Amino acid sequence: MPTGYWKSVVINTRKVIWTEWKDTAYAQDAVPVREQKEITGHAVRAMYLYTGAADVAALTGDEGYMNAMKTVWEDVVYRNMYITGGIGSSGNNEGFSKDYDLPNERAYCETCASVGMVFWNQRMNLMTGDSKFIDVLERSLYNGARDGLSLSGDRFFYGNPLASDGQHARREWFGTACCPANIARLVSSLGNYIYGFSNQGIWVNLFVGSNTTTKIGKTEVLLTQQTNYPWDGKIKLTIEPKNKTKFAMHVRIPGWIQGEAVPGDLFVFEDKSKTDFTLSLNGKSVAYKMENGYAVIERDWKKAMYWN
Ligand SMILES: [Zn+2]
Repeated sequence: MPTGYWKSVVINTRKVIWTEWKDTAYAQDAVPVREQKEITGHAVRAMYLYTGAADVAALTGDEGYMNAMKTVWEDVVYRNMYITGGIGSSGNNEGFSKDYDLPNERAYCETCASVGMVFWNQRMNLMTGDSKFIDVLERSLYNGARDGLSLSGDRFFYGNPLASDGQHARREWFGTACCPANIARLVSSLGNYIYGFSNQGIWVNLFVGSNTTTKIGKTEVLLTQQTNYPWDGKIKLTIEPKNKTKFAMHVRIPGWIQGEAVPGDLFVFEDKSKTDFTLSLNGKSVAYKMENGYAVIERDWKKAMYWN
């Protein structure tokens, strides 16, 4: 039974200039956010709402929001997400339909919805410290959002179907031009998604060639990442604190290395064996502990000295 209400604009007591059915599930307001357990309605609006709700949960510690966000996230990722990380399979409501209804050729998968998945999953990672949210963020970023932009940078997908007879092509612009602006904003803010910081440590979330500086306590730390990922799995991190400082480096070990295609079981590898990865420090293998999906090395870090 759809929930909603009729909304009218009345000029005087007799003349109704328009009337429309407001579908509350479409707008994620059939029940209060704290009571939500299922994903419904317009995919982009849902992502923006839940990005804000996750921020409120993180700031206030409100358990109602936290639990709702975790339950709705599972409904999205376990039952309503394409292998590309795209969401919102239906063009009718630009959003969600039924669980497991994920047609390839008719996939709507708006670029903005995948951009929204990046926003929401980053907040969920910051709130919980769990790397599974970055696994999903990375999937949506590279396969659901970034594909909305051509390599030439001037053609866009609005919907991102997973199969085509050749009738789909990126276009210059759209009458409703949310996606080109949204993907431009995402690409230019990519730096915000690569690392996480606290006073106790640094989190390496995405493998992207980059450098940045942060402060651990009062010490400035320069961090450089060299990699050709995803074409090559080699990642080289250079950690240069101004002074010797103790802190923890957390390096995300993607779920797919550990035999899990995605969190949940919506998509599984035929071969579930784990892939080998190695971690070394100054060329020697190093002890680490696994925590929330991250390999953690806590030690005194000091600036490397190179001798000629
Ligand atoms: Zn859009």
